[in-house]
Amino acid sequence: MTIAVVKAPPKSIPLARPDITRLERDAVMRVLSGPILSLGPELDAFESELAECAGVTHVVAANSGTSALHMIMVALGIGPGDEVITTPFSFIASANCILFVGATPVFVDIDPLTLSINPAKIEERITLRTRAIVAVDVFGHPAHWRALREIAWKHGLALVEDSAESIGSMYRGERAGGLADAGIFAFYPNKQITTGEGGAVLTDDDEIADKARSLRNQGRGTDGGWLSHQMLGYNFRISDINCALGRAQLSRLDEIVVARASVAETYNRLLVDVPEVRTPYVASDVRMSWFVYVIQLAPEFDREDRDQILEYLRDRGIGCSNYFPCIHLEPFYRTNFEYGPGEFPVAEAVSDRSIALPFYGRLELDDAERVVETLQQAIAQVRAPDGA
Ligand SMILES: *Cc1c(COP(=O)(O)O)cnc(C)c1O
Repeated sequence: MTIAVVKAPPKSIPLARPDITRLERDAVMRVLSGPILSLGPELDAFESELAECAGVTHVVAANSGTSALHMIMVALGIGPGDEVITTPFSFIASANCILFVGATPVFVDIDPLTLSINPAKIEERITLRTRAIVAVDVFGHPAHWRALREIAWKHGLALVEDSAESIGSMYRGERAGGLADAGIFAFYPNKQITTGEGGAVLTDDDEIADKARSLRNQGRGTDGGWLSHQMLGYNFRISDINCALGRAQLSRLDEIVVARASVAETYNRLLVDVPEVRTPYVASDVRMSWFVYVIQLAPEFDREDRDQILEYLRDRGIGCSNYFPCIHLEPFYRTNFEYGPGEFPVAEAVSDRSIALPFYGRLELDDAERVVETLQQAIAQVRAPDGA
């Protein structure tokens, strides 16, 4: 008789994990014990606290970051025939919001260091139809806002900050989310703070704020009745349950940002002796609120090598991802806009070599060490000729 020796599989380490404590659970329970579940006091309070966080005068909270971007596009009056300049290296929503209103996204390649849109390449793409620029604070690192503001001002363009990933970051002493004419936050569970699902429009512009408030709530006016609709609107409302969760998370933002920064420091230290890997760049005029920790493989590696490394890590229970695939190469964009590889070489090279490692404030040192050791094994495996 043979006795099977069952070895426990190694503990799996997720890519992301929300940081929820008793404070959040109690806050949600309090709302559930009361009579108001939507458009109530938690929404008002969440909006004023977010306004403080982004250093803006108006906040319109919504059911997602994508809805927030959509409302900004409508509020700016962007529509068919208009062009909006944006980056191919982002989460799909930052380009899709342009399509939602029937306008055309015009992609511009990125800066290889900050990974955000390269301001030096924007002006050659501006035409008489260009109406706005949507720039993204990639992985939490603010874009080149000083140069972007100059270009927008010179050409009379609206400037939108997709700050879905940068809540708590600072750029030259200014708070992320408030660096353009309008910005957004997003609160999906993999973001720095979460409401389960949620987002917000952030702006100093009274008109954008008024329009977003109406668009969120079926186009209702501020003074009219529940069945008085002033414009074509949506149901982009967020419940008071989600807002209560968001308020508790926001009250812990500093602590969460510090914990995540310390995990990033740990990875930076552990990766010092891994020459095949470039750790994330942080400009000296930026305070980073880390959204994800994304490394880049050295140029001698290609996309296939990267994919093999992802598979090796996943097989060993380590969550990881290819943040971001380029937007212009997504099947939907390729078929509808005839984009192909080679058009945005910097974004494509970065995208082919990126690996997001497990990252959250409570990631333990042991686990970070196991991630880096396994990564080194994966790299050695890919490098060995014929998979020997
Ligand atoms: C998460 C994210 C969004 C969208 O947020 P959702 O709440 O998921 O709709 C938009 N842009 C970027 C860059 C994001 O990372």
